[in-house]
Amino acid sequence: NKQIILAKRPQGMPDNNTFQFVKKDVADVKDGQILIKTLYVSVDPYMRGRMENVESYVEPFKLNEVIDGGSIGEVIESKSDRFKEGDVVTGMFGWQEYYVAGENEVRPIDPSIAPITTHLGILGMTGLTAYFGLLDIGKPKEGETIVISGAAGSVGSTVGQIAKIKGTRVVGIAGSDEKISYLKDELNFDEGINYRTTDDIKSDLQRACPDGIDVYFDNVGGEISDAVMTQLNRYARIPICGAISTYNMEETDIGPRVQQTLIKKSALMQGFTVGNYSDRFKEGAQQLGQWLQEGKLTYRETIREGFDNIPDAFLDLFRGKNIGKLLVKVANR
Ligand code: NDP
Repeated sequence: NKQIILAKRPQGMPDNNTFQFVKKDVADVKDGQILIKTLYVSVDPYMRGRMENVESYVEPFKLNEVIDGGSIGEVIESKSDRFKEGDVVTGMFGWQEYYVAGENEVRPIDPSIAPITTHLGILGMTGLTAYFGLLDIGKPKEGETIVISGAAGSVGSTVGQIAKIKGTRVVGIAGSDEKISYLKDELNFDEGINYRTTDDIKSDLQRACPDGIDVYFDNVGGEISDAVMTQLNRYARIPICGAISTYNMEETDIGPRVQQTLIKKSALMQGFTVGNYSDRFKEGAQQLGQWLQEGKLTYRETIREGFDNIPDAFLDLFRGKNIGKLLVKVANR
């Protein structure tokens, strides 16, 4: 059983010393347990936070233990009445080829409803993050303008489409022309701004948002967010979902202070984690599934192949190599 463990806590961008490949025997399957063969693993920006030994909303990864994270797998041996060989399941079994799980640790997936990978993306954690962050905190109203950073990623691309369903003007900020074309041509965003090539993001925002900004869905933090904050409308709402531009910084990122802006605009800024909504996941997944079936939502996936490429795929999140959900395919069903 190949596993990837956290060998060293990274400072700045993780590198080859951060991760180590090890081989271990697969544990025996006891009553009430199943043996899972990993098919896909999810790589997610929040995992960078878990590599540091600091208090957060999820526990830090332990040194020399398998990197934990969302995965999809197939049951290949079962000593549980609830699962049989061939069932597809999802859970937190992390970066390893095989995993022995208790029957309550994983959730079954019905492969006939949607491709199984959607349970790590649009019908899974990132879709639910978009759904609750936007609707519960952003509260978009018809005719308003929303700006989304990290717009072509898994969360951002879903936020923009839900905002379109709600009748808003949607402006996405992302890091390549290919991503901007994707947002405008395939997802019907009204405008897109390539933050890597622009000389003046503020004037681009002014052009794209002639009526100002009512909702800013923030996935990236840093200077992009500083620019957006200068153009808020009164009573703007700002769901703080992520700050990926700062995750690999070695020193605390200090930017313009926003208190005065929030006062002047009576604006509301609220951080959140998707886990806050765990008692409503069913509602969210049902609605997302319905929109998907009705063709109101679509999604893209960037799928890397091969267990050995998991660490590099993880780093691709910070290099902006993905459009939509980034996954690694580890084995065939
Ligand atoms: P994405 O699919 O959006 O992938 C990450 C993207 O971030 C990259 O493709 C890249 O796109 C962009 N990015 C990377 N570095 C920078 C940078 N320095 N400045 C600006 N953009 C950058 O990942 P997710 O959809 O999974 O996550 C998006 C955000 O949401 C993350 O911040 C994540 O931590 C957060 N999140 C929060 C959750 C919560 O519960 N609050 C749950 C899930 C995610 P580009 O080419 O545009 O730079």
